[in-house]
Amino acid sequence: MFPSSSTSSAAFAPLATHDPSSKDDLPFTTAPKKSPAYWTTPSDSSSSYSALADRIQVLVEVTSSRLGPILLVIASVLLSLTIYCYFAVFIPFHYQWPEGTGPGENLGYLSTMVWSLYLVWGILANYYFAVQTPPGTVMDGVSSDNQEASFQDVLLEMESFTRFPPTCRQCHLPKPERTHHCSICKKCILKYDHHCPWINNCVGHFNHRYFVMFLTYLTMACVYFLYMGIGPFMLLVELNANNMEWPYPLPQALVAFSEVLAVIMGLAVGGMGSWHWYLTLTAQTTLEQYNNNLIKDICKRKGDVFSNMYDFGIFGNLLNFFNVGPRGHYPWYTVLLPIRIPPIGNGKKFEKSSRGFVLDFGQDADEIV
Ligand SMILES: [Zn+2]
Ligand SMILES: [Zn+2]
Repeated sequence: MFPSSSTSSAAFAPLATHDPSSKDDLPFTTAPKKSPAYWTTPSDSSSSYSALADRIQVLVEVTSSRLGPILLVIASVLLSLTIYCYFAVFIPFHYQWPEGTGPGENLGYLSTMVWSLYLVWGILANYYFAVQTPPGTVMDGVSSDNQEASFQDVLLEMESFTRFPPTCRQCHLPKPERTHHCSICKKCILKYDHHCPWINNCVGHFNHRYFVMFLTYLTMACVYFLYMGIGPFMLLVELNANNMEWPYPLPQALVAFSEVLAVIMGLAVGGMGSWHWYLTLTAQTTLEQYNNNLIKDICKRKGDVFSNMYDFGIFGNLLNFFNVGPRGHYPWYTVLLPIRIPPIGNGKKFEKSSRGFVLDFGQDADEIV
């Protein structure tokens, strides 16, 4: 089960940080203030592939950082369009047009409005929180500008006192467990999941919940939008066929576009949301899942069984993620409220499961990226 009970804490540092660029984990004493040329420049012509990969990476980073604000505007416009379409066309279609009782007398209308407004609140609030909430950086809570003092402050918050903590090559600061350097934000992000251009922000320790809940509400809303949109779509086709006037304020083309958009968005966001729910239930980030799979393979070859050290079972992981119940600080029903709720802890140290796996990487370390 545990291949190396004598493994030192330094030995499992790459597992703890889950950094795909484990080469960045340099001892503090050897990390220079400025990256020397031999780190950033290919040493000879044999590394032309590496140089090409570097250029592509730079291109992707520049494009992502430039596209971020544009995608943010596009997402906001598309969300606004579909919400307007729903309340200006779908709701009147089902409850006020062509003939119907007044909204106040209609229980169906009231319950639909409450449910619809709840979904809209869930989408907009979580999107806003995901965009606005800093994901968390190594320098959070560190007041000193002095590099050495900052280094020590971070170590204190990590509760790590080793002389050679994993250190980021770019930031020259210790990397707490689950931290990774985002090359677009140019910071080390706590419990890094990924950089999302659609929120123009990293998904990390402090906004992970909002990102997952945004995907969840948006998926539910897409399904409900399409359900409510069947009738208006049939009417649209019928009126078009008979050259009759469209009685709603939003043009037919935009209504049709909204419905197509809901199908595409529902599939894309639903797929991504399902993936993130799987990661949440198994206490992994996107990055960790990749590394954990590699470690699982290594363990399998050695005849061992891998167990994620942050995994407390599905129920425990849910309580941890949402900071609720006996493991958290908030009542369970706050999961259903689209409000700001901070995660457990400062993102620089995490509770470990007693079933957690400690791997003595040895030569296998090269396989962990
Ligand atoms: Zn960094
Ligand atoms: Zn980022």
